[in-house]
Amino acid sequence: MSSRKPATVAVRTGIESDTQYHAVVPPIYLSTNYGFPAFGEVPQYDYTRSGNPNRGLLEQALSELESGAGAVITNCGTSALNLWISAFLGPDDLIIAPHDCYGGTYRLFNTRAQKGDFKVQFVDQSNQAEFDAAIAKNPKLILLETPSNPLVRVVDIAKACQKAQEVGALVAVDNTFLTPVYQKPLLLGADFVIHSTTKYINGHSDVIGGVIIAKDETHVETLSWWGNCIGATGTPFDSYMTLRGLRTLAVRMKMHEESAQALLAYLQTEKLVGTIYHPSLPTHPGHDIAKAQQSGFGSMLSFEINGSMEQLKAFVGQLELFSLAESLGGVESLICHPSSMTHRAMSDEAQQEAGISPLLLRVSVGLEDSQDLVADLEQAFKKAQEVA
Ligand SMILES: *Cc1c(COP(=O)(O)O)cnc(C)c1O
Repeated sequence: MSSRKPATVAVRTGIESDTQYHAVVPPIYLSTNYGFPAFGEVPQYDYTRSGNPNRGLLEQALSELESGAGAVITNCGTSALNLWISAFLGPDDLIIAPHDCYGGTYRLFNTRAQKGDFKVQFVDQSNQAEFDAAIAKNPKLILLETPSNPLVRVVDIAKACQKAQEVGALVAVDNTFLTPVYQKPLLLGADFVIHSTTKYINGHSDVIGGVIIAKDETHVETLSWWGNCIGATGTPFDSYMTLRGLRTLAVRMKMHEESAQALLAYLQTEKLVGTIYHPSLPTHPGHDIAKAQQSGFGSMLSFEINGSMEQLKAFVGQLELFSLAESLGGVESLICHPSSMTHRAMSDEAQQEAGISPLLLRVSVGLEDSQDLVADLEQAFKKAQEVA
């Protein structure tokens, strides 16, 4: 079973599992509660906060896809991160996180640390000396996010996990950008994988959800217990929708990536494009590590406009097939201006330090025809060039 490929696991999990009517597609169970077969006989599911068939199937599918022992489906990616730290951190414990982690992750860790729930240190994980110094402080948990947002920086997962193991720290990888189709952190030594399933896993920009998958059975039990305790678990409807989205994950990821390559080939020829950030480019500092630890480069990319702010605005305004919006990983192509959108909470100095230029644009390449996407970029750049 475990040797089956991701596309097969994503499509087949739960198919023909209905014993009542033999529905091929597993039905949705919205019931909040389940009857006890007899006095004192506890059923598999009793109350939906602690467990539900639809959530169970999604947990099974994602856990198998990531080669884990089990999973907990949460109501968003942020609550998966919150569940993880709630379950494993006490007031004296230290967590190390990337300085360029997802903004909501930064806010969560920072705010709870300020309340005294635990200690946090944000480090530049691509700076080996800084990372090593932080690990030497004996953290309880380490979060990796690779590739990172929006500059798609890459961290060597196996190397980080080995160092973490030496000090007894547990490592989680936020695998939202690549999904198990392109990266399997548990096989590289990580203890947990976290996803915002809102992104590629659901893939249709119509569900907010999350998951935490653990390699170790006892960690799964701990997370399940805490998930029920703090009420972090996902709803049956969202789980049903997410499993439906997951069915096509493998083919979507492949197509997203093919189109990203077509866009990159074009962007490299465009005069108004400056530095391009994507791990597939040999000039990208994380190219070799990405090649070694990923089975695909993914389809999130960023680039700087080699021109004025007015030209950037004209370019974005002329696009017809790229929606100006946050989030990522859906079927529709998106363009985002990190400095005024996803990363606007950061001060100008903090943005500069993180390498986020005001002329940077981030693209989530969708599943429209790639020739149409390239043509759209072309016409928008042409109009932008006419702006002084
Ligand atoms: C979106 C995102 C999150 C947060 O997930 P939500 O579902 O929005 O709570 C965490 N990490 C990464 C990398 C993300 O892109």
